[in-house]
Amino acid sequence: MAIKCVGILTSGGDAPGMNAAIRAVTRSAIFNGLKVKGIYRGYKGLVANEIVPFKTQNVSNIIQQGGTILKTARSMEFKTKEGRKIAYENMTAAGIDALVVIGGDGSLTGARIFAEEYNVPIIGLPGTIDNDLFGTDRTIGYDTALNTIMEAVDKIRDTATSHERLFFIEVMGRDAGFLALNGAIAVGAEDAIIPEMATEVDQLAELIENGFRKSKNSSIVLVAESETTGGAMGLAERVKNEYPQYDVRVTILGHIQRGGSPTATDRILASRLGNAAIEALLEDQRNVMVGIENDKIVYVPFARAIKNDKPIDRELLNVLRVLSI
Ligand code: ADP
Repeated sequence: MAIKCVGILTSGGDAPGMNAAIRAVTRSAIFNGLKVKGIYRGYKGLVANEIVPFKTQNVSNIIQQGGTILKTARSMEFKTKEGRKIAYENMTAAGIDALVVIGGDGSLTGARIFAEEYNVPIIGLPGTIDNDLFGTDRTIGYDTALNTIMEAVDKIRDTATSHERLFFIEVMGRDAGFLALNGAIAVGAEDAIIPEMATEVDQLAELIENGFRKSKNSSIVLVAESETTGGAMGLAERVKNEYPQYDVRVTILGHIQRGGSPTATDRILASRLGNAAIEALLEDQRNVMVGIENDKIVYVPFARAIKNDKPIDRELLNVLRVLSI
């Protein structure tokens, strides 16, 4: 059956560029003769029937805005069979016959389950600052967050240099170290402590034993939030106990990393992926995430995007180590 009406929702953590993606999906769908409906508050709004018809004007003047005009939420109800049944009934009553879901790992997991249960065509777009989805080089929001981290840490460096201290700066990423590692390279940090390496070596001991601060008067280390790394607080506690000769300070960047106007890179990525989502539906593709690899659009089955851990590029670790002597 040919698709006539597409529903769009944003779900899970918000990310800069989600609005650019909503705009692209809406405009591309209308360009191709499809109707569009905006679903507010992610799966929560699908269950609560918060569905509104979208015209091209609904997405005017939003490409430059951070956050998501559709709002986002987490929904426990959607994790239950009963909740998904209500969601399906609301969707069909609104005449929606396909969905575009913009979100992270959890949102695409929900999409996969819903698509299988009700035979609904769903296309996923990777919207998360964490860059932790397999099968795409970048996710929507990652570049903006990386730039925000860079600007914040540049400022912290002024203080760090004046006081000759060791600074642990915690950045987001859930269980992925992309923001910490690439952020560290971008600010010229001493090191990055990331979950991907934490299971292999004691990165803190390595950092201290490699004689950091020998040639410098301050040190900045980016730490990925994660139980595996212990986070910046956990590491500072260890330094106090194990290496009390060092004066440590902790900064947790927090939600500042999620906000702000998206960079050109994120706007272009979101626009390309949003248009590709509609093309995919028109080509009868379903249950895939649209990603980008070597600057080309790719379609990745949900199962692959969600199940696999995206590996860190060891070359980046090497660059960081070589350049921080
Ligand atoms: P993100 O998409 O940023 O990873 P979450 O992990 O919070 O965010 O997931 C967003 C929403 O996706 C959840 O609140 C829930 O409604 C839905 N979801 C996540 N996992 C599942 C699941 N296993 N089954 C059904 N829905 C899920």
